[in-house]
Amino acid sequence: MAKQHAEPQTPPHSRAEVVSVSEANPKVRTIRVARPAREESSFLPATLKGLAITVKHFFKNVTTKADIETISYPEEKPPYPARHRGLHRLMKREDDTVRCVACMCCPTVCPADCITIIPAETDDDGVEKYPAVFEIDELRCVVCGLCVEACPCDAIRMDSGLHAPAVEERQDGIITKDEMLALGGRSIAVQGGISEEWRQDQPQNPRDEFPHDREGAPYGRPAKTWRNQS
Ligand code: SF4
Ligand code: SF4
Repeated sequence: MAKQHAEPQTPPHSRAEVVSVSEANPKVRTIRVARPAREESSFLPATLKGLAITVKHFFKNVTTKADIETISYPEEKPPYPARHRGLHRLMKREDDTVRCVACMCCPTVCPADCITIIPAETDDDGVEKYPAVFEIDELRCVVCGLCVEACPCDAIRMDSGLHAPAVEERQDGIITKDEMLALGGRSIAVQGGISEEWRQDQPQNPRDEFPHDREGAPYGRPAKTWRNQS
């Protein structure tokens, strides 16, 4: 059976037009390709059209700023959420001395290990120590607030609402005691949570008033501790 060749057809929507087909081999064809019109072959109209759209959005954004999603930071700052804490501040007593007693609770609990305190002794009989050095590396701080929670004296707070400033040198991200005291105010919290009046109202020796413990045994027996559970 003789092999039949299909007559080559000009594909639809093609710019190529079949002019002639070889009799020896129908696959060999002569085609004519339509050249694009002048306005189609030039990129100038499309380029000008794109530039016009760009210029239109430029003037719209400069004059109305309707579609601008960004802000000119740091001249403009976005509103912070109500729960934003901000830079640490150190609180003062009534005589403007620092309330911190250098108990080391906050550097102990700090997960970022960014609090440095060097304690020193005081001349005040009622206060044993104060922080000679109190620094926080705000670039390492993870703003967890655990230092505030751990403080027994209301000596440190994170309610300034101030963002840590941008710095050029790494060490400039450390906030010092004087800087935190400048942000701080006087705290009306009673130091330690109880007052001297409360202490004066108590019996000198609680065992005189309560000679037996809750189980009815006289005080004075060895106390149960986590080391002595039996
Ligand atoms: S907020 Fe958290 S990470 Fe920052 S100094 Fe306090 S305890 Fe450390
Ligand atoms: S927990 Fe409070 S009192 Fe203790 S070292 Fe820290 S800031 Fe000072």
